[in-house]
Parts: sequence; structure tokens; C-alpha cells
Amino acid sequence: MRTHTASHAELHRLLKLTHRVGNDPLLTQASTGNSSVKLDGVLWIKASGRWMADALSNDILVPLDLPAVKECIQSGVDPSERYPGASLETAMHATLPQRVVLHVHCVDTISWAVRNDAPAHLRNLLEGLSWQWIPYTASGLPLSRTIEQSLSVSPGKNVFILGNHGLVIGAEDIEAVENLLAEVRARLAIAPRASPPADYAALRETVQGSLWDLPGDDEVHGLATDPISQTILAAGLFHPCQAILSPSRTADAFRAIPYREFSGHWQSQHRNQPFVLVSECGVLMRRSITPAEVAMVSGLVQVVQRLSASAPVHYLTDAEIGGISVQAGWRYKESTSQRGDGR
Ligand SMILES: [Zn+2]
Repeated sequence: MRTHTASHAELHRLLKLTHRVGNDPLLTQASTGNSSVKLDGVLWIKASGRWMADALSNDILVPLDLPAVKECIQSGVDPSERYPGASLETAMHATLPQRVVLHVHCVDTISWAVRNDAPAHLRNLLEGLSWQWIPYTASGLPLSRTIEQSLSVSPGKNVFILGNHGLVIGAEDIEAVENLLAEVRARLAIAPRASPPADYAALRETVQGSLWDLPGDDEVHGLATDPISQTILAAGLFHPCQAILSPSRTADAFRAIPYREFSGHWQSQHRNQPFVLVSECGVLMRRSITPAEVAMVSGLVQVVQRLSASAPVHYLTDAEIGGISVQAGWRYKESTSQRGDGR
């Protein structure tokens, strides 16, 4: 029987790992990503809408009765609906047999996971690891069902590459999860393409006296200045976070507008968007953009700058985009780091 002190120490180690992961924008952005540990029949899981980065300064873990969560899943109810404070991915964490589970939006992983030929590449890159490809499935109960089915066919897997989504790692202790994360990251690492510089003078002139501003993260301009990235972005949505960022849930928000067409009407035309891409110039952000949206835009540029011109991108279908929970989107978009520093 595990002592109370041992459980407490393990929870603290999970919080420290969560904090480290949360402070790496190449691993998680805003309130995306989640971690859990199963201790004495209790599933300790990240609370919905909380930022992993706040793990040490915030009560971010929710304790749930594991048998009750499993029963909930069996009866076809999403545990994140039964327990509204719990992560959207509670079902997945409960379904995985490992004690410690970590889910991240690692940009290197995503850059592979959005490709039609991902399984073939991953077979080489992850050779020797016990990994599994999971084709894109909506978060929550559907994703946990897909993983459950895959485990029934090939049990014992501890690395899951989620198509068009991210990475999941499971292990019996926290150290093993962290080691496996480092290994997968190293194997999937891609050097991002450098993007042409932004036209800061043009952007500054444009935003004068407006509700718009330049982003704090200079790399974000690549979304608009890099021709390869623009081609990839204009063709469709390849990650659920894009649907959350785009009011129309289409690629429209990610298509750069030519600077010459940037007439006096642009402010009203794009008033629903958190950001605007100006062709060859760079990116403008609404002053009212939320910290969560800022973090997600920064993550997006890191993914797209890792995709080559020849990458066969698997775009989400209309049905898949329609299946992205609006409610979940708001949880992410409106979430604010409790540290209040906008990261
Ligand atoms: Zn996710």
C-alpha cells in the first residue's frame, strides 16, 4: 500500500514535470496539453482551461475516482461533461493503462502528424520504440475510443502519435515519461525554415490609431511573409487549434491579404478575427486578442515553418472541423495564465 507521503511526493513530481513542459512553447501552447497520474484508484488530471505552465503556482490537478470515470466512459458519457472541471482529454488519460500520462502539442510531432505520409516516415524515425499511429479523431470520448481499440489490437504501446493533433506518452513513473518525451522529440526534431523579414515600417504605419498592434513574437510574421507557409495555410486547416482561432472555421483567416488591397475598410472587414496576415509584410494582432490566442498563433508558425513545400498535408475535412467542440474551443481561447504575464 502506497503511503500518503509517497503519493504526495509523486504528485509534486508530476506538477514539476507539468511546469517544465508548460514553459516550453514548442511543447504546449496556452491551456493545451495535459498530464495525469493514477494513484490508489484516483486519477489526478489537469483541470480544464488551466495552463500547464502554472502547475507550481496553481491548483491545476483535479482528483477523480478512476473506477467511476471508467464506468462513465463505458456508459458512453464523456467524463469531461460529467466532471466539468476536468480536462477535455480525461477519457483518454483514464483509458491508457500507464500510471503517468502526458499529452503535448509538440510542434515537431505535429509537423509530422499533419502529413498524409506520416505513418511511413514515423516507422523509420521511431524505430525501436513502442509507438502507435492514431488517425485524427475528435478530442474527448471519440479519441479515447480510438486509442482503446488500437490497444486491443496491439497492446503495450506507450507512445501515441495523434494524427493532426499531437503526442501522448505513458509510463509507469514520471522520470520514464520525461525520458521518453526527450527521445521522441530528438527523433522527430525538424529545423524550422527561416522566414523573410517583416516590413515593420509598413505594419507600424497601418496600425497607427487602430485597434490593432504588432505581435510581441517576431517569428509570427512568418505566417504572412513566408511564401511556402502561405501556400500551406491557404489550402485548409490541419490542426484543431486553427479552427478555434478562425471565427469562420475556414482557412480564410490564414490567407494573407495583399498589402495594396489593404484599404481603409480592412479594420471593419476583419473585425471578427484575432489577427490579420498581410502578404509580404507580416502579421497584425487585435489589441483585444487573448493571451491564449497569442500562444496558439506562436505555436502555429512553429509548425508551418517546419513543413516543407513538398509535404503532403492532410487537411481536416468539413465534418472533422464540425466535430471540434465549440465549447472546448472557448475553454482554450478564453483561458488565461494565472501568472498574468500573457504567456
Ligand atoms: Zn491536444
